[in-house]
Amino acid sequence: MSRQTGGPLDAGAVLKWGLPAMRDLPWRAERDPWRILVSEVMLQQTQVERVIPKWHAFLTAFPTPADCAIASLGDVLRLWQGLGYPRRARNLQAAAAIVVELHNGQLPDDLDDLLDLPGIGPYTARAVLAFAFERDVAVVDTNVARILARSSGERLTPKRAQERADEAVPYGQGWVWNQVVMDLGATLCRPAPTCIPCPLAGSCSWHLAGRPHPDPATGSAGVSGKQARFEGSARQARGKVLAAVGVEARPAADFDDSIIAGLVADGLVIVSDDTVHLPE
Ligand code: SF4
Repeated sequence: MSRQTGGPLDAGAVLKWGLPAMRDLPWRAERDPWRILVSEVMLQQTQVERVIPKWHAFLTAFPTPADCAIASLGDVLRLWQGLGYPRRARNLQAAAAIVVELHNGQLPDDLDDLLDLPGIGPYTARAVLAFAFERDVAVVDTNVARILARSSGERLTPKRAQERADEAVPYGQGWVWNQVVMDLGATLCRPAPTCIPCPLAGSCSWHLAGRPHPDPATGSAGVSGKQARFEGSARQARGKVLAAVGVEARPAADFDDSIIAGLVADGLVIVSDDTVHLPE
């Protein structure tokens, strides 16, 4: 049996807090699994405000997995520009191709089948099940992971974090529960938390203990650390190359060799005759 940590999350209190104030996000009106998947992949490392226009544009161009699968990777990457981490776009297109080949063009509603798709990990697979298929599964993103650790008062293993999250899902309310608990982590249980108005303040082990150091969320499963600085990073340099060659092919000599080598290794650009271009 797994070791119990903290009490169960007070689902009633969280729903009462979150339902009236649920953020109005365009994918929340959707149940189409492809549209949900695209939103989740875009949101993995990019802020909501930057994702919204890109999500609309991407789905206008590729309304189904089949539309995405037959496009050139270059066109997929052009639509991804500004979101960063372009390997996500490459994986998304590869996933779309498998969905067409193995699943008749429809995202599967099975956890293992979803996990078999490129770039889809436990978080994204469960997000598709919860937000498209309205399954009672728990979605653990970095915001939820902070709540799980702090409310239990200790750093959690991946297994225990998922168990604790699963135990909290109210029967038949997986969709709304996951939305609301993610909102709680995004708005109150932030890296620097605002505990007084939190619906879990009366039961959160870490808060009730006076928030001793160290914060149990630090190093707990699913909680991401600080993002590395963007200015001057290889990530920024890669983005500049992709933006430039997205307009037209450019001489390789215009760019840093190591940045081009990394992009070639990732299958994101092609170099031929000393010219760099997107895979068309
Ligand atoms: S009481 Fe504070 S630390 Fe605990 S879950 Fe709420 S916001 Fe997070």
